[in-house]
Amino acid sequence: MTCVVSGGAPSAVFQNPIPPRTCGGCTGCCTVMAVGSIGKPAGTPCVHACHEGCAIYERRPAQCKSDFYCLWMRDTEGLIGEEHRPDRVGLVLTDDSRSPDGRPTLVAREIHPGAADRSKGRHLIEFLRQFVRVTIVPARSEPVVMTVEGRGLTR
Ligand code: SF4
Ligand code: SF4
Repeated sequence: MTCVVSGGAPSAVFQNPIPPRTCGGCTGCCTVMAVGSIGKPAGTPCVHACHEGCAIYERRPAQCKSDFYCLWMRDTEGLIGEEHRPDRVGLVLTDDSRSPDGRPTLVAREIHPGAADRSKGRHLIEFLRQFVRVTIVPARSEPVVMTVEGRGLTR
């Protein structure tokens, strides 16, 4: 099995600037990521997310136009299978973090509470932990209700 990390740093598997995959029906990062300009907190579904993706796609915030690709999209080797597309496993994987000792760390952000504990998520994290440290960011247990005006109300 190909190793996810090479020489202590994420390998070329996740370095491809042109993702081999497309998001398809996934809107995972529209839940886990914060979008400051519309007051969307991290870990809360965006009010503009819809079945087709983004309901305001043409006028979406600049931050949403940036080239964000989760690790599933950037996986050139198919290490993370189709069944682990973020919306299917409930986890968005990124490599945007380093632990205090400088070791590369993958971050698994839960889209739904408990996703990291369900069998699919748990198996994926166990697999990755053979090669690299994985930090889990739990989904909010108390979701913030985001209004269109961008004010968050904790339920
Ligand atoms: S989490 Fe990944 S696959 Fe899902 S919408 Fe975001 S970039 Fe695309
Ligand atoms: S504005 Fe659109 S692209 Fe941006 S987080 Fe919301 S649904 Fe996603």
